[in-house]
Amino acid sequence: MSELPWSAIDTVLLDMDGTLLDLHFDNFFWLDYLHQRYAQQHGLTVSTARERLIPLLARHQGQLQWYCVEFWSEQLQLPIREMKREQAARIAPRPHALEFLQALQTAGKRVALVTNAHRHSLEIKLERVAMAPWLDAVISSHDYRQPKENQQFWQQLQQQFAFDPQRTLFVDDSLSVLRSAQRYGIGHLRCVATPDSQKPAKDCGEFADIGDFFGVCRQLEACLAETDEPSSPA
Ligand SMILES: [Mg+2]
Repeated sequence: MSELPWSAIDTVLLDMDGTLLDLHFDNFFWLDYLHQRYAQQHGLTVSTARERLIPLLARHQGQLQWYCVEFWSEQLQLPIREMKREQAARIAPRPHALEFLQALQTAGKRVALVTNAHRHSLEIKLERVAMAPWLDAVISSHDYRQPKENQQFWQQLQQQFAFDPQRTLFVDDSLSVLRSAQRYGIGHLRCVATPDSQKPAKDCGEFADIGDFFGVCRQLEACLAETDEPSSPA
């Protein structure tokens, strides 16, 4: 894992699910709880529900509607938003994620949360995990009607939250999203190898793994101490 050149970075864009928050909640919700509730609702066994749901979910992956609470509520005839609230106690930050946000603020970096999550899901997650005080902006790609996988997302983001791509760090657990950010010209890219605390590490492809946030915080502090040194009193 390579260290980040913190003095060459002034903006940090962070994904939410699988980056700041443990993806275990989403994996549990979509790959387990949803199947149980769909089976109950339609009078099916859980395995039949699974056989129907897996291809249906796969068909919409990577498209904006895949993240849309209303789309799935209608498709599946289930109250997705209420179901998420019922399971909200499972929403948790990844280890040291909040400390990382705090360290970024101390270091004077501009920080934005950039997610493909629907505003409804975002709302539930921001209620459960106190990330908002550390963020300069919270952006849902639904506001632009373009997922992060599309170049138009990045164009609109830059219009709303001006940043210098070369001096920007973007962290995400999705390789297709990282590739889209790379195509747009984001200078510093990092992947999350362990988005789900209950699963083994995944392949980060051509991207470097950010590693654990505790280590990243220490790097940031060290960088700050170096910058402070010349001006510190004797
Ligand atoms: Mg993610």
